[in-house]
This record gives sequence, C-alpha cells and structure tokens, in this order.
Amino acid sequence: MPCPFISRLPSTYVRNYAGNLLKTYAEHCPYASQVVVGSSFTGSSAPTGGVGGSTNKGQEGSSIHTQARDGARSAVRPVLQADVIQETTGFGYESFFQAEIKKKKEDHSYRIFKKVNRTAATFPYAREYSRGEKDITVWCSNDYLGMSAHPAVKNAVHQAIEKYGAGAGGTRNISGNSTVHEELERELADLHSKEAGLVFTSCYVANDTTLFTLARQLPGCQIFSDAGNHASMIQGIRNSGVPKHIFKHNNPEDLERNLRKVDKAIPKIVAFETVHSMTGAICPLEEMCDIAHEYGALTFVDEVHAVGLYGAEGAGVGQRDGAEDKIDIISGTMGKAFGNIGGYIAGSSGLIDVVRSYGAGFIFTTSLPPTVLCGALESIRVLRSEEGRELRARHQCNVAYLRTKLQEAGVSVEHTPSHILPVHVGDPLVCSALSDELMKYGHYVQAINFPTVPRGQEKLRIAPTPHHTFEMMDRFTADLKEIWVNLGLKLNPVSSGVCAGSCTYCSKPDLFARLTAREACGIPNCPQIESIAAAA
Ligand code: PLP
Repeated sequence: MPCPFISRLPSTYVRNYAGNLLKTYAEHCPYASQVVVGSSFTGSSAPTGGVGGSTNKGQEGSSIHTQARDGARSAVRPVLQADVIQETTGFGYESFFQAEIKKKKEDHSYRIFKKVNRTAATFPYAREYSRGEKDITVWCSNDYLGMSAHPAVKNAVHQAIEKYGAGAGGTRNISGNSTVHEELERELADLHSKEAGLVFTSCYVANDTTLFTLARQLPGCQIFSDAGNHASMIQGIRNSGVPKHIFKHNNPEDLERNLRKVDKAIPKIVAFETVHSMTGAICPLEEMCDIAHEYGALTFVDEVHAVGLYGAEGAGVGQRDGAEDKIDIISGTMGKAFGNIGGYIAGSSGLIDVVRSYGAGFIFTTSLPPTVLCGALESIRVLRSEEGRELRARHQCNVAYLRTKLQEAGVSVEHTPSHILPVHVGDPLVCSALSDELMKYGHYVQAINFPTVPRGQEKLRIAPTPHHTFEMMDRFTADLKEIWVNLGLKLNPVSSGVCAGSCTYCSKPDLFARLTAREACGIPNCPQIESIAAAA
C-alpha cells in the first residue's frame, strides 16, 4: 500500500530527499510512530506489552527521533498506572490521551517545537538546538522591531530587578500593585489618547477577560464578531454565553447587515482586529467603527499586531488613520513589537473600572513583575520617540524590499498591506518540509499549519525586522527559491508590477499604496477576505 503521507509530497522532492524522508517525517506518521512505540517499549517487564527497557539506540543521533521517542516514552510509561486506574475506576485515561495525540499526528497538526535561543547581542541571529547546535537567522519573530534586545530596555529590566526584585508579590489587590503598574497604565492610556489603561498578564487574558466581563455586565448584550478573530476574543465571547453574530472578515457591509437585525437600544459590542496576525490584512477601521456606532455598539479593537508599528508614536492603525477616537476599547500586547510580555486595554475610565472590578482574569492572578513593567515602559517610550519613528520607517522599508524580492523570485508571497509576509503553501507536509530545509540553510521560518490557520491555508509567515540587512534578505530569497525548486514547487511568473497573482489589490493599487486592506478584487480564494469568511 502506498504511504498516504509520502505520496502527497512532490515526486522531485521524494526523489532528491528519499534518504531523509523517513527520518524527518517519522513524527508525523501514525504507522511509523506505532512502530517506534512498539519497538521501543515492548519488553519483559511490561505486563501489557507496554513499557520496556529499550533505549532506541539506533536513532540516538537524531534529536527529532529523540523527542518523538521521549514523547512516546513519557506517554507510554504512565499506561501502567492508567491500566491500574482503569481496573479500579473504569476509565483508561492514558489510552484516551494517546488516542487524542494520535489524531493530531494523523492530521499533521501535532507540534514539535523548534529550540531556538535568540542572542540579544546579535539580534536577529540565534542558535538552534533541534538537530545539534547551529547558527541561524530568525525570520518569523513577533519581536518585530528587536525591542527585546534594545540597550535601554535591557537596562530598565536590570535596574528593576536590583530595585524591586523578581516577582510582583501577589494579585493587584493583595500586595501585587506598585507605582510602576500605575505608571505603565497611565503611559498606555496616554499613548492611545484614552482616559485609562489596564494591564493584564497577556493580551490573550486581556481579550478573553474584557469581552467576557463586558458581555456579562451589559444587560442583554449581543456581540458582533469578525470571522477572522483571534482565539482569545472567541474564547471570551463564547464563554460569556451572550447572543453572538459572526460577520465576514473585514467586511463592513456584512457587519451592517448583522447589526440591522438587532434593536438599536440593545447594548452591543463589535469586535475585530486591525492587522490580522496570519493573513497580514488590515481592516477598514474607520468604516467599521462608524457602522458600529451608527447602530449603537461599542467597538472593541485588537491592535496586537499594530502597536509599536504604526502611527506617529506607534499607537497602532487607529493612530495612523486618525481614527483613535472611534475605538472605544483598544487591546494591545507588550509581548510583540514592545519586546516584553503582557497585555492591556485602554478606554474610558468608567469602562476600565468595570473590567478592573469585575474581570476574574484580571482580579484572580499574580500581577506582572516589575522587570516586565519597566522593560515595557521603556520600550513604549522609545517607540513613541524619534528613534521609534526611524525604526518604523526602516521596518517598512525592509518589508517592502523583501516582499519585492520574494515576488521577483516567484515564490507565492501574498501581497499584503502590512508588515506580515505570508508565503502560501497549502499543504502541511510541504510547509514543514520548506521550514525544515530553510533551517538547514540557516534560516528559521516556522511552518504555520492547522489549527493556527484553516486547513489548505498552510503558509510560511515571514516578518523581517529593521535589523535584517539587504544582504541577509537577498540570501534568504535565493535560498528559499532554491529550496522551493528542489521541493518541486512551481514558481510564479515574474511580474513587473506590484501585484502577484494572489494579490487582493490588482484592481486597486491606490488603496494598496495607502496600506488599507478592504475590498475583495474578485480573485477566487482571495487571501484577505474570501478564504477566512469561507472557513468561518
Ligand atoms: N490577539 C491577536 C490578534 C494575537 O495574534 C495574539 C497572539 O499572541 C493575541 C491577541 C494574544 O496576545 P498575547 O501574546 O499578549 O497573549
């Protein structure tokens, strides 16, 4: 019987890399993984044919195999206990867990993390440890401007640890509030021209908690959620249990169609992102906010992939478009362009006080430590300054350069209006193969597979920083092109204009120039709008 996995790969790739295939893809293959489990753990001491003493020595050289083996080993070892539990309680917990993982391996969504230590002194260089030590360049980090390694940010963190120690000491209410927490919240409110700010341990928690809390507090509240929304928003909306309406991604007309169905007097929240994390689309912010307000809704806008990067002070797309006052609640992260960790919201003081007072995800958890707060505060201040404006200009310049280079090379880079450069692949195994091959050439670009993107939209997501040089980008493009061809993938014809075949904006170059993503151009499977709407 032909292998259902290897037979999906391009034949040129199979021909060229046959020797490496089994080794590289064993962890994806349910048949191979069963063989690993069977051969490694069958021994005389295992009462049910389970755990044995084999060390799997033949594969010791491959760290991927070591991981798979270790994973299998730790998964299998407790079976003994689970079998005992099963006899007494009737449920086979460990076999249940194994079956769940097997499903992940079968649909190729099982994840093995790459081990990468970034080096602060030589950002964006790093060392990779998955297959022995290797010097690499990182091309997929959300540390978009390298602020995690900025000297002033590192210095602020050093000083904070000397002055205040490592941890926060408690929840905000019980010993975990400080002048630094409040200073950061004031800075964030000021950055976004809002009355108040509130800091959370992450923006996942900020989104989840804020939407859940407001939906539950506002009487009869209904939520209007963009079909492309991030999991953190979906979680808060879903858990709140209030009526929800999902509108097509970045589509003001569909938003209006949905809003029209509900009485104006009923409290409503319209929730969406400015820069979409995976497609790189940018929403028609002003238009969507205006429609929401016309129907009496509050706007909740996630600017996680925009803060630090757009607008005169890095406040996001709202600032860039002069539409900050149309955002009622902005959410952002300190973990991406600001180079630290933590999330926040900013809005009116009444609204912020309600979330502060009723939001379980804010109340019942240890607050962020002073090191993080001071690092984030410094980073925000740098990015509000002239230095920030220069960094943003260099960032956009590098994004444009690399996008053009990739288009000229003929790989299927999508023509997005933001700093996120998705290269469409459309197959999880080929996507992982591209990523693995790039790593061998010294480039780290993570394969983005389901569930981060819908099946069929697997991609490489490339995010150059201001610190990547033209030479680095030239080399990256040449290497990616070589790997692309070696894998038997088709190159796009070189286009002289700005639009590749997958461009959403073929018929609207002036809109693209303004970096506003909005309308579908009628091309089937438009990466900006149609595919996400269909997947929702
Ligand atoms: N919103 C979006 C659009 C995201 O991509 C992410 C990803 O991390 C989050 C929110 C969560 O932010 P954080 O990493 O601070 O939890």
